[in-house]
Amino acid sequence: MILTVCSATKKDGAACAAKPILESKYCMSHHPDSKEWRSKGGRNKSNIARAHNRMPDGLKPIVDGLLNGFEQVHSGDLEPRQLAAMAQGATALIKLAEFVLLEERLSKMEDEISERYPETN
Ligand SMILES: [Zn+2]
Repeated sequence: MILTVCSATKKDGAACAAKPILESKYCMSHHPDSKEWRSKGGRNKSNIARAHNRMPDGLKPIVDGLLNGFEQVHSGDLEPRQLAAMAQGATALIKLAEFVLLEERLSKMEDEISERYPETN
């Protein structure tokens, strides 16, 4: 069953109303693995960690920044509009990275085609 709110209780005793992550019962801040996610040693232990590992190295700091931003909005240390601005910047950077990666692949394919079919040049 997928829960719609976190099962944890906040420090002030109120029920946490944040959205649970993936298939867990807890939000980003209350998930038992959240401390491990922040340290490199524990990064292999969750689905998020696996996704993180598959990401190009250049994008990892952006993802880490966004994850921290989620927690900070949850705890009230960051304005939601600040996280929205960060997400917008991240989207632009990811689009740029995608463009560069596609250019690279296209260039490799073109090289391979001209090697295989030199007569078309
Ligand atoms: Zn929570």
